[in-house]
Amino acid sequence: MKVPFVDLHAQYTTIKAEIDEAIQQVLDESAFIRSRFVTEFEDAFAAELGVRHCIGVANGTDALFIALKMMGIGHGDQVITPAFSWISSSEAISLTGAEPVFVDIDGYHTLDADKLATAITPDTRAIMPVHLYGQMADMGAILEIAWRHGLKVLEDSAQAHFATYNDRYAGSLGDAGTFSFYPGKNLGAYGDGGAIVTDDHELAWKCRAFANHGQLKKHDHRMEGVNSRLDGLQAAVLQVKLPHIRNWTHQRKRVAALYDELLADVREIHRPRIRDANAHIFHLYSIHAERRDQLKHFLKERGIATAVHYPTALPLLPAYERLGHTPADFPRAYHHQLKQLSLPMFPEMREEQVQAVADTIHEFYGRRHGEQSRTGNRYDFHARGKREYDE
Ligand SMILES: *Cc1c(COP(=O)(O)O)cnc(C)c1O
Repeated sequence: MKVPFVDLHAQYTTIKAEIDEAIQQVLDESAFIRSRFVTEFEDAFAAELGVRHCIGVANGTDALFIALKMMGIGHGDQVITPAFSWISSSEAISLTGAEPVFVDIDGYHTLDADKLATAITPDTRAIMPVHLYGQMADMGAILEIAWRHGLKVLEDSAQAHFATYNDRYAGSLGDAGTFSFYPGKNLGAYGDGGAIVTDDHELAWKCRAFANHGQLKKHDHRMEGVNSRLDGLQAAVLQVKLPHIRNWTHQRKRVAALYDELLADVREIHRPRIRDANAHIFHLYSIHAERRDQLKHFLKERGIATAVHYPTALPLLPAYERLGHTPADFPRAYHHQLKQLSLPMFPEMREEQVQAVADTIHEFYGRRHGEQSRTGNRYDFHARGKREYDE
C-alpha cells in the first residue's frame, strides 16, 4: 500500500465546494490585496485564539522577523532560540541584525528551560521558544525566566495551531506569537501566508504598519517598512478552513494514538513524549529510530514516505559556521538529528494506512510480518484503552 507523507488533495476534496465558492468570491470582487477577506480572517483567528490582535503577513518567516523588529530588536542584541528548529527561527533573528544564541533542547525537543538562564547575557533582549512538531515548549518556566530578566518572549507557533499549555493556546502566552499558513501546516493556505498575534496594542499597530510599507492609511508612511501582506485569496481559503481545524486536530490525535498502540512494542523506536501540561496537535508524528536511515529507505521502497525534520541541528549548519559550534555544545539536538524520523501524518489518513506503516516498521526490525496486524479485527478508534489525546 502506498502511503504519502501528507495528502493535501484528500483534504481539498472534503471542502471543495466551500473553497471553490470562496475563491470565486475573491475573483468576483477583485479583492486581492488587503480586502475584507483578510480582515475577516484576522478577526476570526484572533477570536479563536483569544487574543486581541492578529496581523496577517506574507509567510511565517516574515511574521517572526516583523515581530522581532517591531519589538525593537536589532544590531548588538541577542535572541535565544532552540538549537533544533526550522531555519526560519534563527534566520529571522539574524535578519533584524541581532545574533541568534542557541540553547539545547529538552526531552520534548523544545527549548530546554534549565539551560536558558546560563545563556542570558547583558545583550539578551528576547527568548524565542519554538513549539516544535505541535507540542508547546515549557512556557511556565520560560515566561518566569523572561520576567525575571526583563526579556520579551516571541512564540514561534508555526507548527502549533491550537496546541495548548495548561489550556492556553500557542501564541497567546508570550508578548507575541507567530504562525505559518504554509500549505503543509495544520492550518494551511494554498500558497504562502503567516500571522502575528498579540495582546499588545502598540506592537500590533507597529507590525501592521511595518508589514505594509509603514502605512496604516494609504500614503501615510509613519516609517519605512516592507511589503509582507496576507493576500485575499489565501485569507479566503483560511477562513473556510478555520472552522474545520478542531476536527482535523482530533483526527490527527486519533492517528497518533493508533501509531502509539501499534508501535508500543518496538523497542528500537521512541515514540513522542508529551509534557503533562500540554495538548499535542501532531503537526508531525516524530519518532527516534535505531538505524534511522536504513528504516527510511526500507519504508520508501515499500511506498511509504517519511521525512527527517531536520537533518542538521541549526548551530551545526554551514550558515552558522561563524559561531564555531560543535556537536558537543548541543548533545540533545545532535542526538536528535541522528535519530529523528517523521512518519506519515495527516487528518484524512486511513486506519489501513497507519497499519501499513506500523507493519512495515515491524518487518524492518525483524518481527514476523503482520504479527501486530489487526486485519480482520477492525480497529475501533473509539474503544481504545491506550493513550488518549482527547480529553
Ligand atoms: C514553517 C515554519 C516557519 C516559517 O514558515 P513559512 O511560512 O514557511 O515562512 C517558521 N518556524 C517553524 C518552526 C516552521 O516550521
